[in-house]
Amino acid sequence: MAIMMPAADQAVLSRRSEIVAALRAIVPGEGVIDSAAEMLAYESDGLTAYRQPPMVVVLPDTTEQVSKVLKYCHEQGIKVVPRGSGTSLSGGALPLADGVLLGLGKFKRIREIDFDNRVVVTEPGVTNLAISQAVAHAGFYYAPDPSSQIACSIGGNVAENSGGVHCLKYGMTTNNVLGCEIVLMNGEVLRIGGKSAENAGYDIMGIITGSEGLLGVITEITVRILQKPETARALMVGFAEVEAAGECVARIIGAGIIPGGMEMMDKPAIHAAEAFVHAGYPLDVEALLIIELDGPSIEVDELIRRVETIAQGCGSVTCQISNSEAERNLFWAGRKAAFPAVGRISPDYLCMDGTIPRGALPKALARIRELSEKYQLGVANVFHAGDGNLHPLILYDANKPGEMERAEAFGADILRCCVELGGVLTGEHGVGIEKRDLMPEMFSEIDLNQQQRLKCAFDPQGLLNPGKVFPTLHRCAELGRVHVHGGKLAFPDIPRF
Ligand SMILES: Cc1cc2nc3c(=O)[nH]c(=O)nc-3n(C[C@H](O)[C@H](O)[C@H](O)COP(=O)(O)OP(=O)(O)OC[C@H]3O[C@@H](n4cnc5c(N)ncnc54)[C@H](O)[C@@H]3O)c2cc1C
Repeated sequence: MAIMMPAADQAVLSRRSEIVAALRAIVPGEGVIDSAAEMLAYESDGLTAYRQPPMVVVLPDTTEQVSKVLKYCHEQGIKVVPRGSGTSLSGGALPLADGVLLGLGKFKRIREIDFDNRVVVTEPGVTNLAISQAVAHAGFYYAPDPSSQIACSIGGNVAENSGGVHCLKYGMTTNNVLGCEIVLMNGEVLRIGGKSAENAGYDIMGIITGSEGLLGVITEITVRILQKPETARALMVGFAEVEAAGECVARIIGAGIIPGGMEMMDKPAIHAAEAFVHAGYPLDVEALLIIELDGPSIEVDELIRRVETIAQGCGSVTCQISNSEAERNLFWAGRKAAFPAVGRISPDYLCMDGTIPRGALPKALARIRELSEKYQLGVANVFHAGDGNLHPLILYDANKPGEMERAEAFGADILRCCVELGGVLTGEHGVGIEKRDLMPEMFSEIDLNQQQRLKCAFDPQGLLNPGKVFPTLHRCAELGRVHVHGGKLAFPDIPRF
């Protein structure tokens, strides 16, 4: 699966010094970075196999500056890639050689905390965790909690519609964002939604959420905050077979219980996480479920009892129940650190992200095992089990010839399998460049054209984050006339590492 990007516009590159000077006039001081050494920090995001230094990096810190930068680039036909904290695992923030990388890292202020309306109005560069920390003193928190929450920005979360452990019960980012300010590619500033839960007209907020930086640059966000539940306790349940753990997940949901979080790890992931954080995970089981129940303590006690009974009925072989906050946090520590933990046991890994109907979990796992044999590469599985969101981590060594290509082919087959089983290509990491060329596996030509028409309504010149999400680029004027064969445009290859 060689990933190609749009050809660099030599005419734009030949005007680089003039462009840098114009951007410096808009964002003075240290807001423009154009030295090769300093731009190295921006050449990649969380999909580190792909790297590309941008033409120039711009770091504005006001909406007015963002608007002027975009208006200038629009008039000059210059491409722009928005970037939050750069933790995307699908290559969404990968720069373009002839593009401006627009970093939102200086948008670090929380503008308003409104407990009466239970909302926080924040700038996009604020980290996910910082929002919860800012309201914790009053017993509130922001529910979506990606494992990267210490680093990822809320702007990136909205752009990717990020999820996390607590999204099973409390919804993804899209269910927790009420409004935003967005700057369009032509510099126009648009305000969508606000503090109220209902808005008139089309659900534009729903379109912006998950738009992967292709429709506009988000400069302010209003998020919903929730009151912390009175009690939260977790069960850590081990199974001798992965299928039994999958069955347990289905039975818990089938019994009408919606846990605050329900995550699964297979043996390689359990071992890697335990060696890293010493959470006390059992090492002789094939699968581990961490199930959190929250609410009034009397209800939590009853739910724990019911979940324990269901787990026993599915053949659980170990079960530990947290009796303190410290213990509950320890159960989660291993799961939350599973990605870096796997990074310690393999020189490189590719983190896949597909979703399947919950009941198809055993079939998907069996298929992943077969593929692991076929491609002769190890795999550690971590899931948001309650949502059917799989994160197989494919282990490879980029220094061994052919392994990176095998890992990518393995990953593509896993995602095809998710679609075949009635699922979708991505659960929460977005399409970016990683899954772009697999989009025709899921969407027809008509679907894809209609999605691009939506993109055209926001960015008719296709200057915002081009080369991401859509497998084929069309000029907006041509849409409706062109015939696509699910093929690729002549994108030249980008360097892989
Ligand atoms: C160790 C690790 C664990 C992770 N765990 C999870 C997880 O549990 N759940 C999950 O959902 N994800 C997870 N991720 C993926 C990643 O953290 C999320 O996708 C996150 O939302 C990206 O935020 P960011 O600020 O880093 O965005 P970036 O990586 O900078 O950008 C991501 C995309 O958003 C666009 N974008 C960023 N900011 C803006 C803006 N202000 N306006 C418009 N577009 C913008 C970019 O163009 C790009 O397309 C994980 C990543 C890592 C490295």
